[in-house]
Amino acid sequence: MSGTHGTTTTSGSRVERTPPEQTAVTGSSDSRPWAVAAVAATVRSLLPHDGVITDHARLRTYECDGLAHYRVVPALVVLPETAEQLAAVVGACARERVPFVARGSGTGLSGGALPRADGVLVVTSRMRTVQQVRWRDQRAVVQPGVINLEVTRVAAPHGYYYAPDPSSQQICSIGGNVAENSGGAHCLKYGFTTNHVLGVELVTPGGERVEVGGLAPDAPGYDLLGTIVGSEGTLGVATAVTVRLVRAPEEVRTVLAGFASTDDAGAATSAIIGAGVLPAAIEMMDALAIEAAEAAVHCDYPAGAGAILLVELDGPASEVAHEFEAVTQHCRAHGAFEVRVATDAVERSLIWKGRKSAFAAVGRISPDYIVQDGVIPRTSLPEVLRAIADLSATSGVRVANVFHAGDGNLHPLVLFDESLPGQGEEAEKVSGAILDLCIAAGGSITGEHGVGIDKSAYMPRMFNDDDLDTMQMVRCAFDPDNISNPGKIFPTPRLCGEVPGKHKGAHPLSDAGVAEVF
Ligand SMILES: Cc1cc2nc3c(=O)[nH]c(=O)nc-3n(C[C@H](O)[C@H](O)[C@H](O)COP(=O)(O)OP(=O)(O)OC[C@H]3O[C@@H](n4cnc5c(N)ncnc54)[C@H](O)[C@@H]3O)c2cc1C
Repeated sequence: MSGTHGTTTTSGSRVERTPPEQTAVTGSSDSRPWAVAAVAATVRSLLPHDGVITDHARLRTYECDGLAHYRVVPALVVLPETAEQLAAVVGACARERVPFVARGSGTGLSGGALPRADGVLVVTSRMRTVQQVRWRDQRAVVQPGVINLEVTRVAAPHGYYYAPDPSSQQICSIGGNVAENSGGAHCLKYGFTTNHVLGVELVTPGGERVEVGGLAPDAPGYDLLGTIVGSEGTLGVATAVTVRLVRAPEEVRTVLAGFASTDDAGAATSAIIGAGVLPAAIEMMDALAIEAAEAAVHCDYPAGAGAILLVELDGPASEVAHEFEAVTQHCRAHGAFEVRVATDAVERSLIWKGRKSAFAAVGRISPDYIVQDGVIPRTSLPEVLRAIADLSATSGVRVANVFHAGDGNLHPLVLFDESLPGQGEEAEKVSGAILDLCIAAGGSITGEHGVGIDKSAYMPRMFNDDDLDTMQMVRCAFDPDNISNPGKIFPTPRLCGEVPGKHKGAHPLSDAGVAEVF
């Protein structure tokens, strides 16, 4: 794969790319086409009739996730309703060595839920029960298909909410959030999914049901829970998740500040946090992103701004009042020419509307775009944003920036027109170069969207062979047969049971059928 990143939406023709070649699983249905049929026969006897899909037209519904330019039609789709059914499906896959991919709502932006043509897609959308809510412990136990926002809906009447809030929270699932360690605007203060998950019930790639963590805050032994969160479906399928509930704040105040440049807005961000103020969110949008949002939703952002900051404060009323003074002072000290505060819920939601619709809004000013996802230390924001602007100027490829400034989580939107020869390739080059900038600044190739299939080729830019081999050994401990979402995260197949080291081409032991590929 040569570096197509993030989702590409098109208002015109659909952009499709050939996915990187799917890694064969030794002894898998690649070489035994009847294996999927055997799995289908087993699961048909366990699941309701409409929970097993083999019809090609219906299978196509599941051919991609939010990264729509990679498409693969799965051999079989199953929709279990219980953990027992899900374990039976995975157990059947394990017996037949058929690869499987878990899917929640399919909103992922790195192709993590891209199916296998020779495998089973295990969809959790019928597992949407909030199984337990323990108000006094501030915990809830939910099935993996429960929608992120639903947890807050259930908790709100009792004065609680679920803090991680990806912009897709109205549709993405808790299981997908756990697999991606998803973030969101309010993760600056409250942390990512990993900080809000206390336990996971997992079906291992062998089909066994295990519990890791639980209602108690700490468990002895190795931190397997931390390993599972963010593992992108490669260590098994979550069938229940214990999440932390957070008390709803007494007051929320949303501030909008207009700056001449991203440099000024970045400096204000560093000053606010450097002064010991920790807002619930600090989001930044540059001029191009503002232009797109205005065209789409008329959010009335400060006219002529080169950048805006959207700062949300929450907590006890007296603390919020004090922090509000500090935020306005630091914004003005760093060149804000306009500072507004939302006076009611309607104004607050209009301020957020511009930010939350920015990705889609960019479709109004460009026929195609790539949503990039990288993270950098917050203090590097001005220099990295300048470097992105330089890249844009020299290549002629426009880049709009809309991102979580408080935690350095970047989402550059690389604009292009697929119908113009060479523009798509040029956009991909710029997109890849932005990831290099992130790495050079001490950041990472993904902030919150995962590696999936899309960025697996970039892993060697961050990690050496020893690093990758060590990660593979962890994976192999859970999944020696390489059937749980194979082909994701890692750039090249490696061999299980070997000492880590460099491997080139097909391994002779693999060819001879005496070692498993992982
Ligand atoms: C408009 C838009 C805005 C977005 N905004 C954000 C944002 O602000 N922050 C952010 O972090 N992300 C964001 N995302 C990305 C996406 O919503 C998240 O990655 C989300 O967590 C995916 O959840 P899902 O249920 O759709 O998972 P899917 O796309 O179905 O799957 C994602 C990954 O999780 C695995 N998986 C799914 N369910 C399970 C399970 N039960 N057990 C084990 N593995 C499983 C899959 O195999 C795959 O690797 C956005 C996406 C869109 C389209």
